[in-house]
Amino acid sequence: MSDKKRVFSGTRATGRLHLGNYLGAVKGYIELSENPEYETIYMVMDLHAITTPYDPKELAQNTKDVITDFLACGLDPEKSIITAQSLVPEHTYLADLISSTVTVARMQHLPTYKEKVKQYPENVTMALLNYPVLMAADILIYKASLVPVGVDQEPHIEVAREIARKMNEKYGTDFPEPQRFATKANSVPSLTGEGKMSKSVVGSAIYLTDSLEQISAGTAKIPTDSGKGTQIPRSGGVPSLLEMVGLFEGEEKRKQYEQSYKSEGIRYSDVKQSLAGAIYKELKPVQEKRKEIEARSGYVDKVIQEGAEKARKIAAETLKETREKMGLI
Ligand code: ADP
Repeated sequence: MSDKKRVFSGTRATGRLHLGNYLGAVKGYIELSENPEYETIYMVMDLHAITTPYDPKELAQNTKDVITDFLACGLDPEKSIITAQSLVPEHTYLADLISSTVTVARMQHLPTYKEKVKQYPENVTMALLNYPVLMAADILIYKASLVPVGVDQEPHIEVAREIARKMNEKYGTDFPEPQRFATKANSVPSLTGEGKMSKSVVGSAIYLTDSLEQISAGTAKIPTDSGKGTQIPRSGGVPSLLEMVGLFEGEEKRKQYEQSYKSEGIRYSDVKQSLAGAIYKELKPVQEKRKEIEARSGYVDKVIQEGAEKARKIAAETLKETREKMGLI
């Protein structure tokens, strides 16, 4: 084992990446992959994608699409292990072993579980309940100490820490307690003005592959008000819009708009158009790189296969050790 600290993160294979995934996760992936102190492992989580309703005919393509997005954003297979979760079966094996340290009640109380139960009342499966245990296994199988994910994932990282502690106490394993690595944009707001941008909330997201027209249509539909008042509203589309301005056009610009809101008023059509332009400017190089990657036939498959081989080597070691410590034959 190398003495570098390990970093692990994943994105569900539920569709192409959006600005939230990009700023909240992938930018952090890249930053850490460029730091020689870390060994970085990034995966598309296809086993997590099957915890909510999905189309089996689309899953493999979605998985490849997300890997293509990773590469287009600048992740480099020479610097990071990049692959798909289901190609490393050690994750599910370890999940089974560590599930013996977790209670059903603990899982049922997680906010993410409760949200999904509300969203898909017909689909409250064992896989859904077990999601955080599998996620803990994803991290612990690489003994990763740092996990770049959005703030929405903090309760899951806490579960992974608890499991690491319990495993170490009970069986004498040496799993590090993983910490979340926070990126600049912890939570990119939804275009609906409510909650965060998400693949699973229709109409909430701007995708990395969107054209300028699609981006403009997206920013145009953020709900707003009259554009003038004594106080900036605390909830709804106005703070979401201003937050996006801060992220893509800078804090200065955001402050200017806030001033204008309280004095002469702001024209939302101009604000939204300018924001769309700034987002497109950021995404254009990503889209160009995506085209280059798509033109290289077989390249994405090769990245996935080679990544899986490297990941399995590390994962097999941890699994062997854990099996032994737990007294399995
Ligand atoms: P989604 O909610 O769109 O399905 P995932 O659950 O696959 O996204 O999350 C992939 C990564 O992107 C995670 O690290 C998650 O924390 C991050 N992420 C997702 N949405 C956002 C957002 N709106 N803002 C910041 N980070 C986000």
